[in-house]
Amino acid sequence: MRAETTLTPVEGFEAPALGEPYLLTPGPLTTAYAVKQAMLRDWGSWDGDFRAMTADLRRRLLALTGDRNNEFDCVPMQGSGSFCVEAMLGSFVPKDGKVLVLANGAYGLRAAQTMQYLGRAHTLIDKGDYLPPRGEEVAAALDADPSITHVIAIHCETSSGILNPLAEIAQAVQARGRKLLVDSMSAFGAIALDVNEIRYEAMVSSANKCIEGVPGFGFVIARKTELVAAKGRSHSLSLDVHAQWAAMEKTGQWRFTPPTHVVAAFIEALKMHEAEGGVAGRGARYTKNRDVMVAGMRELGFETLLSDRWLSPIIVTFFCPADEKFVFDRFYELMKSKSFIIYPGKLTVVESFRVGCIGRMDEHVMRRVVEAARQSLAEMGVASAAPPRAALEERAKLAA
Ligand SMILES: *Cc1c(COP(=O)(O)O)cnc(C)c1O
Repeated sequence: MRAETTLTPVEGFEAPALGEPYLLTPGPLTTAYAVKQAMLRDWGSWDGDFRAMTADLRRRLLALTGDRNNEFDCVPMQGSGSFCVEAMLGSFVPKDGKVLVLANGAYGLRAAQTMQYLGRAHTLIDKGDYLPPRGEEVAAALDADPSITHVIAIHCETSSGILNPLAEIAQAVQARGRKLLVDSMSAFGAIALDVNEIRYEAMVSSANKCIEGVPGFGFVIARKTELVAAKGRSHSLSLDVHAQWAAMEKTGQWRFTPPTHVVAAFIEALKMHEAEGGVAGRGARYTKNRDVMVAGMRELGFETLLSDRWLSPIIVTFFCPADEKFVFDRFYELMKSKSFIIYPGKLTVVESFRVGCIGRMDEHVMRRVVEAARQSLAEMGVASAAPPRAALEERAKLAA
């Protein structure tokens, strides 16, 4: 079904395009017109102009980390975010290393699955659908197993929207002399990951999340000492972070065909990110988006999976209403007909759906999201958006 309505534009936050819905999804997401427009020309990958673009991109990304002493470097990698996670794990974990994977959702479990594919030793703390891995648990696991060399943590676990307590995890890891790798895919650019405050060896994110670019590549930001040490470790030619870094340092080029248009769009997105006030400005807009949207949805009777303490400004999980007249697929289509694409939930115990707060949208758009939800409930004949008792019991586990 195509969107029936095209929203009147909000100044500075134009409706995506005629008939194009807003993507309330955590990537791909709604991008600015200028970002899309930047893709309207072709670039030679070996040409000096494109090499300068690659250098500019790396420099701009590094600037977001607070790396004042020039200890880190940025290595873009072709592919989606998962390619980068695999590249990071395969390049920074020695073949005889052992990784503690902290999971509380799909992306943590994917990291564990990646370790399985790599055939390298790993162990898992699995907290289920959304409970946060805490610093003390990490400390206890590291104390119990001296053979663990690395820990991988998910910054914002996008499957529930929980913002994991990275600072206390990093502290536990550093105090025990182990190394932290971070999947900050859906957080980087909107939530600070300052190298002066949180100790980590490497992190990954991708073009189509909080920087608001289009999909096509990701990037690894790592300590140069780790990049040097990674030589010869990777299980994969195309996912070898050291080789990509060494080639870029030497020639200014990507080793294999780069997604040239995506890079051009990303540089435009980075300029817009800077103009908005960088990480703080971007984070403030997303926080406002979340606050306005969550308050409105709660007014309609919806309840969030997470208590306010753990809610990220990235994506929010809501329980599906108990009312029998509520059918998610119908709700989805009704929301889409009002120009909003939402996201199904990923909880195993109770039914849920998710609404993203990231992308080229502001609080005015979020107010319309709430209004669209109100109308959709009315059209379905749902009297109350209150969740079933089982959902609230599930949530009580978080407080325990
Ligand atoms: C988006 C995302 C990924 C990568 O997913 P892809 O579909 O491969 O781009 C990894 N981790 C987290 C936390 C994410 O949000």
